[in-house]
Amino acid sequence: MEMDETQHSSHIDAPGLVFSFFLKYAMLLTMKVLGIESSCDETACAIVEDGKKIYSNVVATQIPFHQIYKGVVPEIASRKHAEWILPVVRQALAEANMTMDDVDAVAATNRPGLMGSLLVGLTFGKTLAWATGKPFIAVNHMLGHLYAAHLQNDIPYPYLGLLVSGGHSIIAKVNGFDDLEILGTTMDDSVGEAFDKVAKYYGLGYPGGVIIDKLAHEGDPKAFTFPVPKLDKRGEHRYDVSFSGLKTAVIHQADQFLNKGYENTKENICASFQETACRTLTSRLFRAIDDTGLKTVVAGGGVAANSRLRALLAERTDIQCIFPPLKLCGDNGAMIAGVAYHFLARGDRSGWNTSACARIPQFKRGLANLEAFGRR
Ligand code: ADP
Ligand code: MG
Repeated sequence: MEMDETQHSSHIDAPGLVFSFFLKYAMLLTMKVLGIESSCDETACAIVEDGKKIYSNVVATQIPFHQIYKGVVPEIASRKHAEWILPVVRQALAEANMTMDDVDAVAATNRPGLMGSLLVGLTFGKTLAWATGKPFIAVNHMLGHLYAAHLQNDIPYPYLGLLVSGGHSIIAKVNGFDDLEILGTTMDDSVGEAFDKVAKYYGLGYPGGVIIDKLAHEGDPKAFTFPVPKLDKRGEHRYDVSFSGLKTAVIHQADQFLNKGYENTKENICASFQETACRTLTSRLFRAIDDTGLKTVVAGGGVAANSRLRALLAERTDIQCIFPPLKLCGDNGAMIAGVAYHFLARGDRSGWNTSACARIPQFKRGLANLEAFGRR
């Protein structure tokens, strides 16, 4: 399944333009892309050369403004983006010791995310590109998360992608930087959402993932035996995950799952919840590894920062699991600039009429894959 089939609908139609573009950039000249990310609660901008070399990577987090509400408030998020986008872009240029004259193209996230937030970065990016006469590329945020690990590693395709963030939990066969076959996804909540909701209920703070990860180190994962969702092992849900049942069990029925000899402490809750959430992901991922024979896993998204998830995957010595460095797991502009480089290098660019899209229907499961693996 081509994830971005509608994204670059406005390819350049003048062959001369394509030719001159290739002459300039594909003849082994370098290409510096300014990438903007504003899909949720981080205003970010980076300058990256050839999809690899990061000159600057500025991430202005709005966490303090949303913390008191224990979650992202969309209206506050878009207002902060509007306030911060110009200083953040200026800072990215300053840290790279560059002006717009040194930049070859501009990219911005246009999907998925909060509509108001997306519109700020997208409109800013298109305007900046138009005003400075540079090509513009709109980037799918999830392609960005997947690309984060590529910024510092040369990773051959195909491989299995594990995209775990505040909005998504996806296992995909990745054939190219924009070519994902979705094998499994969540039936309800995303894994990051489960971390955030559990933390919110127990008053641990926001965002929940990193706090739970920390507290879990002081707890015992065996204290509670929370249920691992049992979706059918053979059919269409073979690689799917579900976190809503786990979230409900941890929030409303924890006592029912407390094992003898253990105390109901927040540390034990965190350790046991985290263990179950991570094992839910790895159980489906390991199935996909067995079925496809692919031995490389590339993780991305905020939850890819989780220490237990990293440890569980490191236990499988027969596979190679590549994680982005911690600071590239969360939202950032470098991953957007990195993806954009590959679109540009093959001659794509987005039209000035490119719009933002809060959801991405392409993340639906591709059942054809199950047939290909002989599971249906
Ligand atoms: P999105 O792209 O959907 O906005 P991000 O990629 O920014 O999501 O990731 C944010 C999510 O990652 C949040 O749900 C947060 O709780 C989670 N997260 C961040 N660090 C960790 C961690 N160490 N363990 C588990 N979850 C984490
Ligand atoms: Mg993200």
